Amino acid sequence: MAGSKSEIGEQEAPAGPPGGGLLAPDEPGAFAVTNPAGRSSAVLVCDHASNRTPRCLGTLGLGPADLLSHIAWDPGAAMVARRLSELLDAPLVESGYSRLVIDCNRPLDSPESIPEQSAGVSIPGNRRLSAEDRARRIEALFTPYHDAIRKVVDARGDRPGLLLSIHSFTPVFGGRRRPWSIGLSYGRDERLVKLLLGAMTGDETVQVGENEPYSIDDETDYTIPVHGEARGLPHVLIEIRQDLLTTPADAARWAGRLAEAFRRIEPAALRLR
Ligand SMILES: [Zn+2]
Repeated sequence: MAGSKSEIGEQEAPAGPPGGGLLAPDEPGAFAVTNPAGRSSAVLVCDHASNRTPRCLGTLGLGPADLLSHIAWDPGAAMVARRLSELLDAPLVESGYSRLVIDCNRPLDSPESIPEQSAGVSIPGNRRLSAEDRARRIEALFTPYHDAIRKVVDARGDRPGLLLSIHSFTPVFGGRRRPWSIGLSYGRDERLVKLLLGAMTGDETVQVGENEPYSIDDETDYTIPVHGEARGLPHVLIEIRQDLLTTPADAARWAGRLAEAFRRIEPAALRLR
């Protein structure tokens, strides 16, 4: 019961810092929402926007080069997402911390949720975690981020929404060069991707991959299955190749292309529901 006294012998839990004890009061929040009341039908999310780690976890035992690399975040993705938010007047929810602390686009029972290694790099700060350590990361970072997305979608009321999830991918994987400039991916619902593919095929300088380099599934994804598929929101996972996305000018170019394609398909996309 709200406001009831604790049982005899039970300690009242201290209020603690916001963020479930993982984040100090002066650290950035678990997520950032830009333009929550944006008028676009697009709702933008960026799961791997940041390579920040909570101060109390240090660098997870990693050197600066690893924390700057793609294992920690999707370099450039947040730049594209922010610019696209401006161009479309769309709300954007970004995760505030590195995927190595907890990956906001992995189910909580996935071994990649709090990875002990990533792309051959061992992550000392993720080894031998207790159930409490895991719970703190979930409570402080994962849950607030997904609650924020839910809130932005809920706030639309009856206005239809289209979910765009912005990522970036490494140009070489497993020794193989990836040819696509950009990939548009889906799992159970291909509809928005098919429309967007049609709108992006005109530019010969851009090689668009369909379900490349990844498709979406319940084992390796969380955001689209939960906020898109389960809610019946048409969606697309957008992956941009990182060597084509290294400067703000690159990001502006990608955002411009995506905004133009999105505007072209928006009327048809809104009829998908
Ligand atoms: Zn990503």
